[in-house]
Amino acid sequence: MKESYIVQPTVVWTKDRNQAYVDGADAAFTVVRDWFLEKSGHTFNLEPADAMYWPPGKPASFYGIATSIPCDENEIIYLLVVGADVGGGTYGGKALGCPYSTVPGRACGSGGSVAVMAGLDPEEEGFPPQPWFHNELHEIHGSIAHEIGHCVGMPHPEDRLTTFMGSQWHLFPDQAISDAEMKVIRKSPFFHPSFGKRRKS
Ligand SMILES: [Zn+2]
Repeated sequence: MKESYIVQPTVVWTKDRNQAYVDGADAAFTVVRDWFLEKSGHTFNLEPADAMYWPPGKPASFYGIATSIPCDENEIIYLLVVGADVGGGTYGGKALGCPYSTVPGRACGSGGSVAVMAGLDPEEEGFPPQPWFHNELHEIHGSIAHEIGHCVGMPHPEDRLTTFMGSQWHLFPDQAISDAEMKVIRKSPFFHPSFGKRRKS
């Protein structure tokens, strides 16, 4: 078990390794970490992107990949699956067979969205266009902030529109954080008022 609460981006290779995806993950998550600090006065501990290999032939799914990584209640694993479209969203601990319930969740980005993060053209990389996603980097940032919100226990806002936990994720970095969301941020052990490591109490 780790001594502090961390967000761990994890690039998952289903084809040849390309360093651009690791560099892209580090850059994108740094932007999101800085956005939370600027916007809320709190942010999370970010680890450098990890990489793991998911062999071709082994069916790739968010659930399958996520459950292959041991449970750790101090760690938000954010999978970035290269070379397969395995969907997105989050799973809570219990849904992954962990002894803790909903927090921390695990999140996933895949397909074309991960190519954009790496500064590559999704279509050239073989990913079909998505109707909800316009291949813009700021949307990737917005979706990462949104999924991390879920991973620490934030629901969608009731009207589904306002704030970064609603459809405002498209508008990154110009999204709002509601009072209710601020409460979650202040209470969550994953967030703290600086980049320094927060020790487990
Ligand atoms: Zn959501």
